[in-house]
Amino acid sequence: MNFSDFIANNDMIKNLDNLGYKNPTPIQEKTIPSILKKQDVLAKAKTGSGKTAAFGLPLILELDVKKRYETSAIILAPTRELADQVAKELRRLAAFVENTKILTLCGGTPMRGQIQSMKHGVHIVVGTPGRVLALLKKEALNLEYIKTLVLDEADRMLDMGFFEDIEQIINFTPKKRQTLLFSATFDDKILEFSKSIQNDRVEVEIEEETSSIKERFFKFSDEGLEIAVQHFKPETCIIFCNTKIKCKEIEARLQDKNYDALSIHSDLEQIDRDETLLEFTHKSCTFLIATDVAARGLDIPSVDLVINYDLPKGQEVYTHRIGRTGRMDKEGLAISFVRGYEEYIDVQLEDINSLHVDSPRSYKAKMITLCIEGGKRDKIRAGDILGALIKEIRLDGKHIGKITINRKDSYVSINSEFAQETFEKLKKSKIKGRTLRVWMLS
Ligand code: ADP
Ligand code: MG
Repeated sequence: MNFSDFIANNDMIKNLDNLGYKNPTPIQEKTIPSILKKQDVLAKAKTGSGKTAAFGLPLILELDVKKRYETSAIILAPTRELADQVAKELRRLAAFVENTKILTLCGGTPMRGQIQSMKHGVHIVVGTPGRVLALLKKEALNLEYIKTLVLDEADRMLDMGFFEDIEQIINFTPKKRQTLLFSATFDDKILEFSKSIQNDRVEVEIEEETSSIKERFFKFSDEGLEIAVQHFKPETCIIFCNTKIKCKEIEARLQDKNYDALSIHSDLEQIDRDETLLEFTHKSCTFLIATDVAARGLDIPSVDLVINYDLPKGQEVYTHRIGRTGRMDKEGLAISFVRGYEEYIDVQLEDINSLHVDSPRSYKAKMITLCIEGGKRDKIRAGDILGALIKEIRLDGKHIGKITINRKDSYVSINSEFAQETFEKLKKSKIKGRTLRVWMLS
């Protein structure tokens, strides 16, 4: 199928083409036509399947830019990261419509600024339930013109105990509205929730393709983690723990051994979480140690190895975790340490000590990420950074990794062998005719 089979707006089709979206993903193909018909939709698809554009495309297509004081859509997401990712994707989808105002409303940021921003009108709000409700109670946010309410990662929001907040938020929206519910799972809780807030819903379920994930289970042992890492030698690896305390403990333990490891959990400030994710996606950090809450839904490319240092309580979370490896035709590997009381694991356990380990070595990441003080605001594009690195510094393109351009700053990862030298030279060279400040991360 093509986007043009159900989207008539040529500017949107061109924009999608610019974004590299050649064809709709299965979830987009199956939900967008119903959403455009204003039906309520309950959709299930796994992480990375393109759910944001599935609801985002219709929202942008229906947007009336003139009505900026009549907020027409609200999207609720479980965490700040997810809300930020949704807003980012919506802005990309709306890139061809001038003056669209999309605002994120999440905790961890002063309310004053958010209230101020809303005074200038906003078309679409993306937020976490707690903060959205707080702003509603302060009468700083008005949802009486809402046409569409989206609950993204609804299962997660229920798990996190947002049910009552969401119910209260819904009371501020018109009865006659479209409600879209996206979830990674369809359990009884979700079905019941859907019944209470949706009308004549259309149900869409995308079956997961047969996975190419190899799963191995080891009897838990204290040094098992290091043995596994030394044996499998991943370039990118997520280690799941059940608590943030355990995350921090494993992070310290691996860092002590000179492994590039960072943890992500709810105690971190937003800015540190962003930087950690950036280092991980830029491959300048090999190990990301995460809790389920922190990792859920994050748009991270597939990793070589998933390690369940702690097994999760249920099969569903387990499936979700191991889905982080082996995407896009690449066989993935997921290993789990079993302590003996996780009843859904019913296999013969292997002994980790039977794995062969070469002489131990340090486990530094291949890349180091440089941060450049200058971004979209300064009209810097990836090409400008590449130009400075290749033409001025004469760095071979094969030593340059991922480039990310944010609003105020940019990040580029460099092969660690050349990073120090590149860093020194980049500080003195010009990017878009200007000398910019440069830092080395971590
Ligand atoms: P989900 O919410 O299902 O986890 P996302 O909406 O975050 O997935 O999308 C995952 C990634 O796929 C994003 O990087 C997004 O830009 C990309 N993407 C979405 N739709 C398409 C498409 N039709 N073609 C190519 N890439 C897409
Ligand atoms: Mg999503």
